[in-house]
Amino acid sequence: MRSARPLRLRPINNLLVQSKPASSILLGVSTTPPFSQPLGISPAKPMSFLSNLFSSSSSSASKSSSSNNMSFPTQKSDDEWRAVLSPEQFRILRQKGTEAAGTGDYNKHYPNQGVYNCAGCSAPLYKAATKFDSGCGWPAYFDSIPGAVKRNEDTTMGMTRIEIVCANCGGHLGHVFKGEKFDTPTDERHCVNSVSLKFKGEDGKE
Ligand SMILES: [Zn+2]
Repeated sequence: MRSARPLRLRPINNLLVQSKPASSILLGVSTTPPFSQPLGISPAKPMSFLSNLFSSSSSSASKSSSSNNMSFPTQKSDDEWRAVLSPEQFRILRQKGTEAAGTGDYNKHYPNQGVYNCAGCSAPLYKAATKFDSGCGWPAYFDSIPGAVKRNEDTTMGMTRIEIVCANCGGHLGHVFKGEKFDTPTDERHCVNSVSLKFKGEDGKE
């Protein structure tokens, strides 16, 4: 009989090497260590060091502490994001945080028309017509604008969930849940942080 040795390593290799989303999630979970520390100490030098790092070499960028620089059309360093986002937006969009249930601006927001755009890059993500009342404490949509969000497997918190991110900038939106039997056309619930969104009506009103 052959030994069981190959069985021990293969699943790990598959997870880390072959599956890009999974490995990026694993990296994305512990976002704190390599980059946040130098940034906090003295802004000037580390910042230019970091922007050189990101602009000059994609292989360096892939070592970043999160999936945010992976393969999205809009790419910014953490510093560049911090410059354009509020601290709460940065925590949720770029560090995969979650706003407290029932607190978001769009939790009970049901306009007749309009679009919810990404709060990071303004890409249109959800139409008002797809929003429904799930009672869960966060904005819920039964579908996104086609191609606007990407899905990643998220194995944090001791469970397997499907994370959704903005397909344009990689900003964390929330999670999508299936088969909950809501009375919607898709039987999916895109559970999205209000902080990750910016609503615009057809009349341009926010
Ligand atoms: Zn975005």
